[in-house]
Amino acid sequence: MNRNKIIAALLLLAGAYLVSPAQERDYAIVVHGGAGTIAGLEADTARAAAFHAALDSALMIGNDILSAGGEGEKAVVAVISYLEDNPLFNAGKGATVAAEGTFELDAAIMLGRDLSAGAVAGVKTVKHPIRAAYAVITSSPHVMLSGAGAERFAAGQGLEIVDNMYFATPRTMRWVEEFKAESGKNGTVGCVVRDRQGNLVAGTSTGGMLKKKWGRIGDTPVIGAGTYADNHSCAVSCTGHGEYFIRHAVAYNLCARYRHLRETVEEAADYIIHHELNAREGNGGLIAVDKDGHIAMPFNSDGMFRGFLYREKGARTVVKATGIGKEMIP
Ligand code: ASP
Repeated sequence: MNRNKIIAALLLLAGAYLVSPAQERDYAIVVHGGAGTIAGLEADTARAAAFHAALDSALMIGNDILSAGGEGEKAVVAVISYLEDNPLFNAGKGATVAAEGTFELDAAIMLGRDLSAGAVAGVKTVKHPIRAAYAVITSSPHVMLSGAGAERFAAGQGLEIVDNMYFATPRTMRWVEEFKAESGKNGTVGCVVRDRQGNLVAGTSTGGMLKKKWGRIGDTPVIGAGTYADNHSCAVSCTGHGEYFIRHAVAYNLCARYRHLRETVEEAADYIIHHELNAREGNGGLIAVDKDGHIAMPFNSDGMFRGFLYREKGARTVVKATGIGKEMIP
């Protein structure tokens, strides 16, 4: 080897040493609070600030668990329970209303390390549907439970049971009276994480689509459509017009593109949201994190409530930001 080659090799090694530890991610978390129209939020800065604050709090709840080495599923359940309690979002309290004026909730969670998954659909009395979904994994041999059976199961697990009207807020009660479709179609919540052990977890919770009828179930609790996680690829949580997300098996589709076509998580997510779906047929977006902690958050709607947080190995501080429209605010 001549002198120049040796110097070049040394520089390469030094570069690799300096760059690679900083690029490896220790853990990562992404949250969404639904996609859809955000008309009016530019003018209503107080309401926009409330959304940013809620997304930030959700990220910090996840950060506390993940930075201490906690399991991804603990973080996802805690983050989504918080968002279910927050009336700003279409999940838990604040959920959108079905055609009969009732609240019918769906939720799912999936663990990438062993592909275990739990979902509940059409529950009317379970205060935290995401906890019931997780209990389906830990305490049943099934993947999806629905309606009254799911409610009996949740009660048997000691989960909090509430009257259906608990989910109502002054805002949703106004919709019941007026049924203004444009007011609050979307606002589902979701969370995906890669924990410090390298495990991926995805969770999603929703009140579904405004004025839904006949026991309609959307993509959220359908494993592979609205929610999916696999340690070989990614964890994904979707939001938007569920019928299209089911048809395109969006969450699994993303993982398959990543794994088999070797696309990056961003390439796979962008392709599905902007080419397979579009703003008319499949309005919405998704959040995803891959096995290395890289993230994607594309949407084809006006906006999507979202936030991410990650820490690089060896770093003391986290990198985080929240967004509603195109911009992200650190
Ligand atoms: N995807 C949900 C559903 O179709 C709704 C949403 O994300 O806003 O039920």
